[in-house]
Amino acid sequence: MASTPRQSLIELLEGVQKFDRDVYPDHQELFESLATGQSPSTLFITCSDSRINPSLITQTEPGELFIVRNVGNIVPPYGDMLGAVSSAIEYSVLVLKVRNIIVCGHSNCGAMNALCDLSSKKFDSMPTVRRWLRAAEAARATFGPLQAEDVGPETIRSLAEQNVLLQLTHLRTHPAVVGALARGELALQGWFYDIATGKITVLDEATRKSYSVDEAIAHFQSR
Ligand SMILES: [Zn+2]
Repeated sequence: MASTPRQSLIELLEGVQKFDRDVYPDHQELFESLATGQSPSTLFITCSDSRINPSLITQTEPGELFIVRNVGNIVPPYGDMLGAVSSAIEYSVLVLKVRNIIVCGHSNCGAMNALCDLSSKKFDSMPTVRRWLRAAEAARATFGPLQAEDVGPETIRSLAEQNVLLQLTHLRTHPAVVGALARGELALQGWFYDIATGKITVLDEATRKSYSVDEAIAHFQSR
């Protein structure tokens, strides 16, 4: 049975106690060094899905990733929806001078499932979700007509990969990104995270193929 709000709040607060007691002391120097500023290398854009832990899967410490999370790891095209995502892009690229932007999609993504079914009645009560996911509509269009009930894990994976590639295209409509790319100060990359296996694959925009992390590292080292 799911816990009540009060029980789950107590569990969260007990987690905070554990952090304070067992974890913070081991990292005190790091946290103190971060107290007055940050210099993250990467803007990491991923889904709000609770099963993704960006710092765990990249083995990064506090201070290394500037993170944007939303339903479906979406980057609205510039000017379409000036809000949280656009602000985070501008700030991280122009002020923090991040060197990379990663867009990371994932397996079993509820947003990708919803994309196949957006016109159904069940989304009548979720107009915000429906509006938000329009920024991923072009990824779904690559598959032709899709019915949610016919969509299996492989299609969801392909859709999530297409969506990552689409959002990389949207990133390139943001003036801050275009400027930093032109100056050679920024790299963009798409990832797909498989929850069950823990494996990341790197998506290549030019070929639209995916590569293992080992292959991607070998490719960058040979350049
Ligand atoms: Zn998701």
